[in-house]
Amino acid sequence: MFRREYPIRQSNPLSRRSTLKDDGSSMFRDMKKYQTGVNEEGNPRFAVPLEADEDGLLGRECSHADCTLRYFKISVEEDESRDSPLNDATIHCPYCGHADGFQEFHTEDQMKKVHSMMVRDVEQTMTDMLNKAFRPLNNQRGLIRISAKVTANLPPLHHYVEKKLKQTTTCPQCSQLYAVYGISYQCPFCGGGTIAVHLRDSTQTIRVLAAEAEQIGQKHGAAVHDKMLGNAYEDVVTTFEGFLRRIYAAALRKTRPPTEAEALEAKVRNSFQRLDGAEELLRRDLCVELFDGVDQKDRDRLGVVFCKRHTLTHNLGLVDQKYRDQVKAWEKPGQEVPLDATEILWAADIVERMLCDLVTRLGL
Ligand SMILES: [Zn+2]
Ligand SMILES: [Zn+2]
Repeated sequence: MFRREYPIRQSNPLSRRSTLKDDGSSMFRDMKKYQTGVNEEGNPRFAVPLEADEDGLLGRECSHADCTLRYFKISVEEDESRDSPLNDATIHCPYCGHADGFQEFHTEDQMKKVHSMMVRDVEQTMTDMLNKAFRPLNNQRGLIRISAKVTANLPPLHHYVEKKLKQTTTCPQCSQLYAVYGISYQCPFCGGGTIAVHLRDSTQTIRVLAAEAEQIGQKHGAAVHDKMLGNAYEDVVTTFEGFLRRIYAAALRKTRPPTEAEALEAKVRNSFQRLDGAEELLRRDLCVELFDGVDQKDRDRLGVVFCKRHTLTHNLGLVDQKYRDQVKAWEKPGQEVPLDATEILWAADIVERMLCDLVTRLGL
């Protein structure tokens, strides 16, 4: 089992000046082995082992007031013989970017566990002291011999398991591993931007779906093949919309007061499902051009992909007049929209390129 010690800045609720002392030096028994010294006020400091999960990841929690997701996990080395440089490292919240010392990111559960260990230990010490005080008296004439034994009713230890997070990422800049809810904006270790990493992972999944559709179709039939391709079209637009929404939000937070940024984010609604809407918002609020470096032919082709997705989502994939007008298609209303794996692969590439370029231009 992996164990590593991390100092906990946990003030002892019972000062060393307390009248209840164990041989005049400490209220602690089992916790003594974790004591590393005393702080400025003379209260003991401890370095208590925290356990990583089965993947070697340790929970961290951001305390910044504006942070919403807060919880993430970072990898810790398994070599317990060395002092971890993490103890004094600066950690970056992958969601809000808040940076602080490693010790300021302990989770509520971790603190509760350490607190319960301390309370339990103090209670045990007090019980031992009382039992010493109630030692049997010697038989003396005229006195009654009494003895008493105090049994400790120790409070339970707080147990917890680290939360499950689906998204595990290796930072391309520092090669460290961490896990987050959904996507991260920064690497917790080096603070480098990571939106592009998640974007590449998402577009790669779309490529795999599109590439595998034919093989799976041969085994399970045309309907399954078409369903897979249809899902891949939807994924292209969902990826574009989802990532653009986060890029937009991150860029707003960098340049505007929080209330103004929040108000603008709330007004986005479905604008990023449409290329024209996305272009307009980015130009108006961030002063950047979405289609910088993209020629008209590619822009029109991406527009066709977006139209196909709209028809797949809202009209069972059947051509309607709106589709005919926008795509200038020869298919008649009611016919199936043509799906093409090559088109999906192309769309995944251009979406990735456009958004990665945007991330770079916005300095995220
Ligand atoms: Zn945060
Ligand atoms: Zn990194």
